[in-house]
Amino acid sequence: MLTHNLGYPRIGNHRELKKASEQYWSGKIQLHQLEQTAKSIREFNWKIQKEAGIYWIPCNDFSYYDMVLDNCLMTGAIPERYHSLLTEKQINNIDLLFAMARGYQHEGYDITAMEMTKWFDTNYHYIVPEFTKGQKFSFFSKKIISEYLEAKRKDIRAKPVLIGPLSFLLLGKEKGTTFNRLDLLDNLLPVYFEVLKELDESGAYFIQFDEPCLVSALTKLERELFVKTYKSIKAKFPHLQIILAGYFECYGDNLSTVLQLPVHTIHLDLVRCPSQLDDILSTDFVHSKTQLSLGVVDGRNIWKNDFTSSLQLIQKAVQKLGRDRLWIAPSCSLLHSPCDLDLEMKLDSGISQWLAFAKQKLDEVSILKELSSGEPGEVALDLLRKNRESIASRQTSSLIHNPEVKKRVSEITETDASRKSSFDVRRKKQTDALQLPVFPTTTIGSFPQTTEVRNWRAKWKKKEISDPEYDRLLKEEIKKAVEWQEETGLDVLVHGEFERNDMVEYFGEQLAGFVFTENGWVQSYGSRCVKPPIIYGDVYRPKPMTVEWSSYAQSLTKKWMKGMLTGPVTILQWSFVRNDQPRSETCYQIALAIRDEVVDLEKAGIRIIQIDEPAIREGLPLRKENWPGYLQWAVKAFRISASGVQDDTQIHTHMCYSEFNDIIENIAEMDADVITIETSRSQMELLDAFAEFKYPNEIGPGVYDIHSPRVPTRSEMVKLIEKALLVLPANQLWINPDCGLKTRGWSETMAALKEMVEAAKELRGL
Ligand code: GLN
Ligand code: ZN
Repeated sequence: MLTHNLGYPRIGNHRELKKASEQYWSGKIQLHQLEQTAKSIREFNWKIQKEAGIYWIPCNDFSYYDMVLDNCLMTGAIPERYHSLLTEKQINNIDLLFAMARGYQHEGYDITAMEMTKWFDTNYHYIVPEFTKGQKFSFFSKKIISEYLEAKRKDIRAKPVLIGPLSFLLLGKEKGTTFNRLDLLDNLLPVYFEVLKELDESGAYFIQFDEPCLVSALTKLERELFVKTYKSIKAKFPHLQIILAGYFECYGDNLSTVLQLPVHTIHLDLVRCPSQLDDILSTDFVHSKTQLSLGVVDGRNIWKNDFTSSLQLIQKAVQKLGRDRLWIAPSCSLLHSPCDLDLEMKLDSGISQWLAFAKQKLDEVSILKELSSGEPGEVALDLLRKNRESIASRQTSSLIHNPEVKKRVSEITETDASRKSSFDVRRKKQTDALQLPVFPTTTIGSFPQTTEVRNWRAKWKKKEISDPEYDRLLKEEIKKAVEWQEETGLDVLVHGEFERNDMVEYFGEQLAGFVFTENGWVQSYGSRCVKPPIIYGDVYRPKPMTVEWSSYAQSLTKKWMKGMLTGPVTILQWSFVRNDQPRSETCYQIALAIRDEVVDLEKAGIRIIQIDEPAIREGLPLRKENWPGYLQWAVKAFRISASGVQDDTQIHTHMCYSEFNDIIENIAEMDADVITIETSRSQMELLDAFAEFKYPNEIGPGVYDIHSPRVPTRSEMVKLIEKALLVLPANQLWINPDCGLKTRGWSETMAALKEMVEAAKELRGL
């Protein structure tokens, strides 16, 4: 039995890569210094994995930005618009990589970045490869070879990792003339052969091909291409041992295809799909020689492995296949988990005993191997005992379990998830109560988080500013924002969210059941890392969270102040969620806590309340057949949070940066009185879905993109709304920007919103 790892976090224990990259981008350090940081991270990671006793250790899992982008460089899939950087500027590969990821705007060049999108259902984002008809490939960047040789010199038993040719094509997009990117396979494969040849010559013989697309729905043709491709690789390189890695889901109906691939080892994600072990063990696979990698340690969560249940899976495989055909591994690359739990000095030890980060997960892999070896040593057996105790303590701990919360969730009724009256009835009452003009203007919630505001918070956290002083500063900022909004003539005001660091963290910090790490960073894209809260226990709201700020803001104006909350699905989606109960259960608990806040806001006189759900689409399962199940509870959770109020209280929601076409029905089921959405980048095209579906409630399609400091003109915003008016009636429309303004500066924000208010006036005059 062997152990291996599919990939290790590359950001460094203290986000060294982020810091070095950003310094390099701003010209503060030289390329060789950045390269030095990268090299130290790689060496450090290899050492950790070696010390953990991992047999096959990945290399080329390091990336300056993204592994799919690395694969573009490896195969010379470099879009035309970057070619001048190569010919005229002889740009080096790292700068080229950054140019492709971030765009290149210097010295008269103005080259746009490549598109970025979510990596399956994780919060990691990859760069989308661009393919053109008849495109040629070449073995362009030799990073995979140099990293292999580097590992070898360090005496690491290294296994190069790359994205397999089919997933690489499938993850990309066609540009220009219409064609099928899979037609490029014949051009692409020779480059993979060159890569393999050179790896072979360098001494590598175990190579990990990541083919995550094997867990998504594939056409018959695509399946055939998988078989053909891997057969041709085998024919060319009979002695190379290929580890085929799919993860995040079951292979499902692709399993028979997977079993036809002439590879050395097949990896199974047994965390996301434990049942596929039985599936594979009931096939002819049992009589083959192919090895099986059992991904039993969750690579994308932070919970300690339950050795007992992992050992059950391993034992089952041992009985059918024998130990010699088995490998033990994390379920997927550890890229998606934080680096090292030992860096957490402030975590409650009662809670940290339930956790494992990347480094600890590797230890778990090694221990599981020893425990399945037939004659485990005393140390391993002792660890098994401790593991059982700690897992058992999670089932009963009063830190986690709160009978009152559980009872409340079990008593949720359909009535709790429905407003008192239908939208038509509510609408009449709201129109009477709120007295808003047509085309009411509003913003999405946050106003600029200036350096000043962030400094106050930093000082307050370090206790350099007292609570009352911090309060006073924030209230002054709110007052300025409210006065300015009144002067400018906005209709529904916001307080500006100055007190919030992050829209999930702010609520998590005030809710029971959440804990925060100091160093639990995970790469989101490029140098951007996130530190998701950990939901470890039953969630409830010990006391009101936003009422004081909102009531203060409302007290400053006669106009309506919009209360501003993050929705239950988004809070769930952007956290590490406990794995000892269904996600829906945790989501309902959060929903009840938000509901309490909504009701308290209403009591305090706040009559318009926005519950943001930008992440609702991100939660969709990878396989479409599982969508209805998720959408059912996600929509219900939102409705629970929104339905505790009277008919004349207006509930808003906000969503951004995603496609809505295929879930428009479910968005309508959320039954928010008003939805504000991002639309300006698609020039209102997104609205077609709302129009076609006859979305019944009110909509605020964003009239300007908040991602750039550019101030939109009145007439372009009027034109956008006129476009919206082609498909939606005027009395259904609100006027607002695409999203929150926290990343913007005040000067452009003020200028843009003034124009927006003028645009609304112009429209009302029409
Ligand atoms: N209310 C939040 C804000 O304005 C919404 C942010 C978001 O959609 N991501 O910042
Ligand atoms: Zn948004």
